[in-house]
Amino acid sequence: MKRLSWDQYFMAQSHLLASRSTCTRLVVGATIVRDKRIIAGGYNGSIAGGPHCTDEGCYIVDGHCVRTIHAEMNAILQCAKFGEPTDGAEIYVTHYPCIQCCKAIIQAGIKSVYFAKDYKNDPYAEELYKAAKVNVKKVPFDNFFELKMMGNVTQ
Ligand SMILES: [Zn+2]
Ligand SMILES: [Zn+2]
Repeated sequence: MKRLSWDQYFMAQSHLLASRSTCTRLVVGATIVRDKRIIAGGYNGSIAGGPHCTDEGCYIVDGHCVRTIHAEMNAILQCAKFGEPTDGAEIYVTHYPCIQCCKAIIQAGIKSVYFAKDYKNDPYAEELYKAAKVNVKKVPFDNFFELKMMGNVTQ
């Protein structure tokens, strides 16, 4: 049996979280990791108790759904809510984070961003990561089915 790398393991977790997303526009998941431990996770969805895009349709303003909180923000806010430091942590995201999430990631002291898919990669975000010395790396993740075949995932 092939052993899953840490990168693939955390990326798998983000993809699992993405399956909980309630916005139909983009299904995103994010996992925050410190010292190889998962400290928080998030997916893009409405505020707790709010109506879901999947039930009421997206709330579109200027081409964006404003109802949802992005996966990265949700994960960072989960750390804020439960008092978990994010300084020096790493984040695994299914898609390249938007500029708003990029700024939140930097400001939260997160030092590495791993993303599986390119998504409207913002050149300004790249500039900000570079200035903040945040390591950004693409970690492709498309072997969920491969995992199943290896018997690591059942069903
Ligand atoms: Zn939506
Ligand atoms: Zn975002």
